[in-house]
Parts: sequence; structure tokens; C-alpha cells
Amino acid sequence: MCAIALFSAPLGMTALQEGNEDMKRSLSRKNLWDATPKSLKAVLGAVLSVVPLSVFLGRKFRRNFRFVQEAQWWPADQIRDHQLNAVREMCRLAYTRTAFYRRLFDSVEFQPSDLKSLDDLASLPTIDKDTVRKYLDEMCTMPVADRSVDYGSTGGSSGVPLCFYIGRDRSAVEYAYLTSSWGRVGYRLGMPLAVLRGRVVPPDSRGLYHEYDPLLRHHYYSNFHMTDENMDRYVEHISGIGPCFLHVYPSSVITLARFLRRRGGKPPANIRGILAGSENVFADQRRYVEETFGVRYFSWYGHSEKLVLGAECEHSTDYHVWPTYGYFELLNDQGNPVTTPGQRGEIVGTGFINTVVPFIRYRTGDYATYVGDHCEACGRQHTIIRDIRGHRTQEMLMATNGSEISWTALNMHDDTFVRVRQFQFYQDTPGRAVLRVVPAEGFGDEDRRKIHRNLGTKLDGQVTFTIELVDAIPLSPRGKSIYVNQRIPNLAASHEQVP
Ligand SMILES: [Zn+2]
Repeated sequence: MCAIALFSAPLGMTALQEGNEDMKRSLSRKNLWDATPKSLKAVLGAVLSVVPLSVFLGRKFRRNFRFVQEAQWWPADQIRDHQLNAVREMCRLAYTRTAFYRRLFDSVEFQPSDLKSLDDLASLPTIDKDTVRKYLDEMCTMPVADRSVDYGSTGGSSGVPLCFYIGRDRSAVEYAYLTSSWGRVGYRLGMPLAVLRGRVVPPDSRGLYHEYDPLLRHHYYSNFHMTDENMDRYVEHISGIGPCFLHVYPSSVITLARFLRRRGGKPPANIRGILAGSENVFADQRRYVEETFGVRYFSWYGHSEKLVLGAECEHSTDYHVWPTYGYFELLNDQGNPVTTPGQRGEIVGTGFINTVVPFIRYRTGDYATYVGDHCEACGRQHTIIRDIRGHRTQEMLMATNGSEISWTALNMHDDTFVRVRQFQFYQDTPGRAVLRVVPAEGFGDEDRRKIHRNLGTKLDGQVTFTIELVDAIPLSPRGKSIYVNQRIPNLAASHEQVP
């Protein structure tokens, strides 16, 4: 199954909760770098630091970057024409190359050539994660053994990854959109990023949990080791890397902000802004972090399936949905489009990037409030949404020393839970937890060992856990999975009133 984890999760949320760390790892040719002898690294690092980043990211990245920079300002009719062509092409590809979509389209007597306007797409049924789980083999447009195809995965609503296939070149496209979005608040390609996003970072010779990637100019710090002592060292180190942005999970930057407030004094003056994604963003947290650092907190929404990407703009914290990335719909409980400002609906996407497994009218399980069809502040003719809430919330485990570890950082996008239907941490004592598991068919001792090994690596002894098999794990009142059933009184309460 998901032997290779290519993405981390969603956007900021669900997906966007997009885990971009793995994506960037693949971009950086990190493996090659890791294999380089230490003695060579210092020399190479100095040389690489003067080569423009866009050169390393490749032609596809540069082409897409130029395209999205321009396309974000297109007038509404040009956007609609582009979307209609892209949706029609995706439907044609799906219909002619896959048994699943041919059957689905035929069942409602739909022909891709019937698509005369974007509204016509509504005649097709929606699909969801369960559909992809069940029919993946029939949804591929090309042989998946092809060299241009990668395995992708994302967190499922049950916490079990959803596996699918996607073109190997999607990272260059995705990164063009992301960096273009960040550019709205001053990020420029090649600026250093101080990253706190769930990467496993071993301590260096001085005991600092820091690792540097000279290709991407990323300074990685471990957010599995956010004790006051370590955060103090992170902050000191960050203050020496020059004008930079923090690239974080909302939960990791709030932890850092709380620390800075506790410690007193000023945050590093070289931090130009905060790029926070892959989890829900809460207004109180944003305010707290902005007040602490004195810089803009910028967020975006995306997910591993690559269907919808939304980002804030220069002036507004509402999400502007990129119209050339995918076709966005917001549907109410009856499946009708939400067009009234203030009303909420489920985000449904038809992606333009993944031509290996077309996702057509895919229900993401994420919800948002409709704001309008353009942004008054910046003038972009993009659909505007706010208050995105994924099925994944900020959930924390507490280590023995009192530091908190975000669920998002622990999330495994590989085959660790391949024979698990559902799982949840239960914690009532710092440093200890019980991992409750609803086993799937074939679950055995090897799976137990794998879970202990893989999760254990991330937890690094800060939280030990036992595995307990159970028949079922109850969902939240809204039908969402809860990954951490947190019963340590202060920690559980702090999640109700952030920060
Ligand atoms: Zn705007």
C-alpha cells in the first residue's frame, strides 16, 4: 500500500493541511545531500548558497511560477474560459482512459463534450475518499508502474491514509503556487525559512535540534523537542540567519509565541513574517502570534490531493481560491452551490494538476464560509472563503517535561497504519499514552512492531505508549475523528480557549 509517503497532509488543514515538508524534500534532492560526506557539505553549502533557487527547482517550476504570477490577475471571463477548458479536458481524459469514470458518466448520460458551461458539471455525482479507496485501480489514466508516476497519500477522516497516484512533477507546480502566494507578504524565492513543521531533526554536535538544507535554504528545527531550553536555542539561532520567514504549523508557532511571552524580551527582529499552514487557523491564535512577533501571520489552505489551493492576500486574511489550480465548488448539505455570503458549505474540488488519477467533484470533508466571488481589497477575481475547518483539529500530546507535541507532526503518511481502520491516542498522564487501535483484517504482531518503531522514532522517548485493540472509537458530535483524546486537565482545557 502506501509504501512511500510523498506528501504530508493537508492543508493546513486537512491537507493543507498540506504537508509540504515531504514535497519539499523531494524537491531538494535531499537524499543526495544526506549522502554527501560531512567534509564536503561545508564546501558545497557555500557554493550552493550563491546559486539562485529557481535554477535548482527546474524549468517546470519556473514556467509555472511565471504563469501563476500573471494568471492571478486575470479578469473573470478569462478565468472562466480557462476553467471550462481545463474541466472539459479532465473529464475527457477520465472518460476515455478510465473504466470508473466511463461507468459513472454513462450512468447519468453525461458526455464530456456536453460540457458547455461550468454549471453543467453539476450533473455529475460527487465522489469522496471512500470512492477512491474502493475504485482506485479503475481510476488511473495510465499504467501506474510508469516512471512518471508517484504514490501519494493523505490523512483520511478515520486517520488512515488515503492512497492514490499522482504525477512525479506535481511538486514543481505546487511549489510555484505556494511561493507565489507567500510573495504577497514579502517572501522572495531564496530567502531563508525557519521551519517548524514535523520534520525529524537529530541534535547536532552542540545538541541543537537543527538541520540546514542549503539548496532550499531551509533551517529545520524539531517541533518534537519544544522545551523552554530548546526553544531558547532555536530563537537564538534564528536571530542569526538573516532576513527570514517562519514556516510553521499554527500549533508550533503558538507554542513558540507562548514561550516568548513567558520569557519576556523581544523576538528576533530579522523575522519578516510567519507562514502558517496545514492545520486549522484560529483568530485568537493569529492575533496572539502577530502581537508577539510584530509581523504578518499568513495562511493558506491546500491538501495532498491537489484539488484546491487558497491563500490570503496582501490586505485580507480571507482565502483566495487559485482559479487555475483546480475548479472549486462549495456545496450545502443538499448538494447545492452556496452562493450567499455568510453561508457554509463543504469544499468540493476538481483538480487540474493530477492527470494520473482524475479527481472530479471530490468532496474534501473540509468546510468553509462563502464570502464572495472577488476580493474588494486586492481586486483578484477569485472565489473568497474564510473559516475553513478541516476534520483534523489541533490535538496535542504532552511530554514528561511538559512540552506539547502536535498531532499534525506525528501524523504518519506511510504504511504504518495500513492494517488499521481507526486509531486514537488516549492520554491522562504527561509522557505516557495509550494508542487505541481498531484493527483491520490481517493486523498482527508485525503491525504492532511497525507502529512502535515508526511512531517511536518521532516521539523520541518523550511520550511512551502502549497499544490497545478496541472494537470501535467514537467520533466527535460532528462526526469527525478525534486523534488525541486528551484528558490531562490543563492541556485539555487550553484547547478550548486558545491561546
Ligand atoms: Zn485580496
